[in-house]
Amino acid sequence: MGGRLPIRGLTRLPPYPTPQGMGAACLTIDLDAVRANWSALDAMSDASVETAAVIKADAYGLGAMQVGKVLFDAGVKGFFVALAEEGRALRRVLGDAPTIYVFSGHMDGDTDVLLDARLTPFLNSPEHVTRHFAKTPGHPFGIQLDTGMNRLGMEPADWDALKSDLLDAGPTLVVSHLACADEPDHPMNTQQLRSFQDMTDGIPVRRSLAATGGALLGPAYHFDLVRPGIGLYGGLPFVDAAHTLRVDVPVIQTRTVRPFETVGYGNSWTAKVETTVATVAAGYADGLIRAMGPNAVLFAGETPCPVIGRVSMDLITVDVSGLDDVPETLEIIGPHRQVDDVAEAAGTIGYEILTSLGARYDRRYLGAV
Ligand SMILES: *Cc1c(COP(=O)(O)O)cnc(C)c1O
Repeated sequence: MGGRLPIRGLTRLPPYPTPQGMGAACLTIDLDAVRANWSALDAMSDASVETAAVIKADAYGLGAMQVGKVLFDAGVKGFFVALAEEGRALRRVLGDAPTIYVFSGHMDGDTDVLLDARLTPFLNSPEHVTRHFAKTPGHPFGIQLDTGMNRLGMEPADWDALKSDLLDAGPTLVVSHLACADEPDHPMNTQQLRSFQDMTDGIPVRRSLAATGGALLGPAYHFDLVRPGIGLYGGLPFVDAAHTLRVDVPVIQTRTVRPFETVGYGNSWTAKVETTVATVAAGYADGLIRAMGPNAVLFAGETPCPVIGRVSMDLITVDVSGLDDVPETLEIIGPHRQVDDVAEAAGTIGYEILTSLGARYDRRYLGAV
């Protein structure tokens, strides 16, 4: 070892190859469904309330450029990303018109990107405020307030101290974020609502408190702008969302396993009866995480086929004994099993499954613009 890593050179390496052949699992993303989910969420608030779109983390793994373009064409005027670089990529695709907000704020090193791509950062702390006014005076900004989640945003005391200067400088939006909005009866919701009102009632600036969960809590939470993310992509807590995803995994090999034979790493599954096992071409490297193993089910048409043995990096073994004919592919996410079902099998949330889907799929978009 020794010597310095060629970090700069790394950024010039070619991208990982996009799968072309029949061997890769196919991830189908229905952009019409994304658009329908946005419209359904938009219809939940008054016409005076703007419905924006959160497309951070590559639109939760679905593809920020594709999702951004479809939603922009559908009339979305405001987009939220986590990082300035995400905003720059989006600006290139969407052009000048939309407002692109950056949750992480104005970090050291972001200044040029914020200026070049005309991004609106949220000032999250006094440090952000100082940096923003020193480096980009006159550049648009929003303010993120902490109303109890203690994750990101200005504390009430800092806000009190800086409020009049900040308001003089003309922020375009003031936001806060709910910690428990997926549980409608949680007392934290009303507590944060009250705290947000205490901090912002009467200010001449547009306000936003609701993500997907908040949008579903009703008009008291909507203020001037709602900013759903997960609901656009068909995830809970938006139970009535249209399904946006389908993952079909090719069967590479089938074999018959006799009683007492085992399947997969660690011999974790032992056949009790003669079993037909299909090995399919996707695994935890594709976001189908190991933890879902014994609880997961794939589908061949209407027939469920349980996962047996451990999920490997690139392969999953499935009991297809119930099938007369083994099809070329099995469905792991689709009409029968949605992202939240897979998440539940793995003991996690839909957000994590979506953002873990990975780059190795043969991606197909339906309803692309
Ligand atoms: C991610 C995020 C959202 C979107 O949340 P969803 O639950 O996906 O709708 C909104 N606001 C902030 C501050 C976020 O970090």
